[in-house]
Amino acid sequence: MSKDIFRKELAMFQPYVPGKPIEEVKREYGLDRIEKLASNENQLGPSPMAVEAIIKAVQEINFYPEATAYELKRELAADLGVKEENLVIGNGGEELLQVIAQTFINEGDEIIVAAPSFGIYNTTVGLMGGIIHSVPFKNNQYDLEGMLEKVSDKTKLIYVCSPNNPTGNIVTRKELDRLLAGLPEDVTIVMDEAYYEFAVSNPEYPDCITLLKKRSNMVILRTFSKVSGIAGVRIGYVITSERIAAEMNKIKLTFDVNRLAQEAARGALRDREYTKKTVTLTKESIDMMEAYFDRKGLNYIKSYANFVFVDVKLHSKTAFEELMKRGVIIRPGYFWGWDNWIRVSTGTLEQTQFFLDKLEEVMNGLS
Ligand SMILES: *Cc1c(COP(=O)(O)O)cnc(C)c1O
Repeated sequence: MSKDIFRKELAMFQPYVPGKPIEEVKREYGLDRIEKLASNENQLGPSPMAVEAIIKAVQEINFYPEATAYELKRELAADLGVKEENLVIGNGGEELLQVIAQTFINEGDEIIVAAPSFGIYNTTVGLMGGIIHSVPFKNNQYDLEGMLEKVSDKTKLIYVCSPNNPTGNIVTRKELDRLLAGLPEDVTIVMDEAYYEFAVSNPEYPDCITLLKKRSNMVILRTFSKVSGIAGVRIGYVITSERIAAEMNKIKLTFDVNRLAQEAARGALRDREYTKKTVTLTKESIDMMEAYFDRKGLNYIKSYANFVFVDVKLHSKTAFEELMKRGVIIRPGYFWGWDNWIRVSTGTLEQTQFFLDKLEEVMNGLS
């Protein structure tokens, strides 16, 4: 008998199935227009100030990036009202989620997540040999009581994604207070705020940086991918206690955040106008979709992010295929076990109308 050459946790993983390249879909269906509203990207293009910063920095890519992201941390800390020691910068939020799992999880440790939520929590923790307690939504929202019931001596992390991907709803300040009141101090709460900027104007949205000052076992995750339109260069950050940040920074790869990404983020941070424009347009796109769903009597979850989760009353595999044939790419809900739901990202008003027109066609069974 030869020994297994791979880490045993790999057996539970499936290979990533990429979507077809856009050019391929165009050729296959004879389309001249395709709108990809599947990955919550910013359809306004990248922040112009981020682009400008990248162009400047490109002449210096012969040098390794600044390992501690010194300048970015200084500016980000000032912007957020925290210390540089409270920050961890990563190659996108995804890398930081991996570092979180590596920092906290020993084999057999437990985590609590909601379902449906962001799949990377499960894969990063699963790889470390952690055990995942998945608590289904109740009445189309987080079942926080149900999550608290899963807490045991072995619980290390509880993940709260707010706004939640793929559903778009938030966990309110009151709800979060109640959750924290019932949570032992030695359970670290991971607040995934990838869509923070889209939700922060809601008075019920919690101010987690203030909460962090009272409860230090908290990790707040944010990203430049969505609101700043720089998903392609990969950069995100964590705000946490100095103690947790120090541990995470110890194990992160030295040059994980490349030079162009660091500069792009600094540019994006200064680009208030672009952020404002993005948030305003996103709200308009959401309003437009929700008004349509209301008219059509379609059930959806009220969204505070840059996408909407809606019940289209037919299997999402069919909806996905029929919409793709007509030039719209969305995310089918069956991935999360929500068979008749789809997640569609916001876009320009023209793109949003295009999606609604195609959805109308599909639901009317026209071709
Ligand atoms: C997009 C996203 C992230 C991080 O994305 P990156 O591009 O890796 O920064 C994290 N959490 C959620 C819920 C997301 O949707």
